[in-house]
Amino acid sequence: MVERLSVLYELQLIDDQLDELEELRGDLPAAVNELNSQIQLLENQVDAKEDEKKKSLSKRKENDNEVDRLKVSLKKFKSQLYQVRNNKEYDALTKEIDHSEELMSKLDSESIALEDLIQKLKNDIAEVEPQLETLKAELKEKESELKQIIKANEREEAKLKDKRDKIAAKVKKNDYTTYMRIRKALSGKAVVTIIRSACSGCHNVVPSQRQLEIKQSKRIFSCESCGRMLVSPEIADEAKKKLQF
Ligand SMILES: [Zn+2]
Repeated sequence: MVERLSVLYELQLIDDQLDELEELRGDLPAAVNELNSQIQLLENQVDAKEDEKKKSLSKRKENDNEVDRLKVSLKKFKSQLYQVRNNKEYDALTKEIDHSEELMSKLDSESIALEDLIQKLKNDIAEVEPQLETLKAELKEKESELKQIIKANEREEAKLKDKRDKIAAKVKKNDYTTYMRIRKALSGKAVVTIIRSACSGCHNVVPSQRQLEIKQSKRIFSCESCGRMLVSPEIADEAKKKLQF
């Protein structure tokens, strides 16, 4: 049982060190994530606008071609007006001319609206571009800061992780599950000791009878206030010695 408690405390000590390394990174990982998603969002917006711009340009081009075609046939119809032989032919021809002119005017106003839209899209894209550049520069800076911090502690972190693997392998499976559950729920600290008669996790006093029982290390006791696993100061000292902390 002493060994079982001791390895749990060793695991906690190693995790404390790893947590400290993690804390050195501060809010950089979150900032990098946030910048990445902001950039992604803007890039998607730009892509959608570029796409709409492309479609509008090709629609306008189509309209222009259609107007050119209509101009040619209109010219033909108008010249035919001089050759009509009766009212019926005349009416049919003027009907064609009216129809072509109507269509041309419709296409022209459509093209004007498309040109406005294309201009608006161009402006929108131009507005987003400097924002994107600023965000990308910021991201680059934060990423390099983060990389530097990670690199500076790379070796220490690898060493600690290696040690952690070895110790975790010695922890009973059920204990490990409990440990990880409490660790997750109580910001990292799952196994604590008693300092000046109080739980070092929540600083609530541990009754003296319970302190005696914990000292005997016959089973795992939990703090009645915070639920963390408690080990005696002796076990804690021994674990520290083993890890040379
Ligand atoms: Zn407690």
